Formats: sequence, structure tokens, C-alpha cells
Amino acid sequence: MTGEQNIADLNPNVVADELDALQAPKNAGRGVSCVRVIIMYLRQGNIKSAIAVRRIEGDKTRAYPDIETYLNKTFGCRTHGEINCQGWLCK
Ligand SMILES: [Zn+2]
Repeated sequence: MTGEQNIADLNPNVVADELDALQAPKNAGRGVSCVRVIIMYLRQGNIKSAIAVRRIEGDKTRAYPDIETYLNKTFGCRTHGEINCQGWLCK
């Protein structure tokens, strides 16, 4: 254990609200659809599906540095799901 916070230890509703606040103003107020899918799963308590979407759609969230930073500290890196991953692709 690294002692870092992880999505499994966080309140999914809080993560959903914080992600919602980040994505809502993007694209002239239209938001980011793949992030809204993650939020939907979090609010359903379906953490596995939220993590899967984060992995699959990571190339889209990377366009939004604040969202990507938030996802990295809650879900971990796209490739390994590690918080503070030191993999050369993940820094
Ligand atoms: Zn990684």
C-alpha cells in the first residue's frame, strides 16, 4: 500500500460531483461525454465500469489536463491503474 487515496476508498458520489464540476464547463458548456459516462457509473456505485471507461477513454480525457490530473489521483494511471505511477508512459 502506498497510502495514497484510491477510488476504492473514496466516496463515489463525491468523486462524481467533483468530476461533474470539472467537465461541465468544457466544450462551451456541453461538457465531456465520456466523463459523464464515468460520473453515471460512479453514481450507480458501479466502480468497475467507471474504471473501465476511464481506461478505454483515457485518450479523450487527456485533452483536458485538469480532468486527467483528477482522474490520475483518483483512478490511477490509464495503463496500470496506479496512483503516482512511475511508468515512463505515465508520468
Ligand atoms: Zn502507469
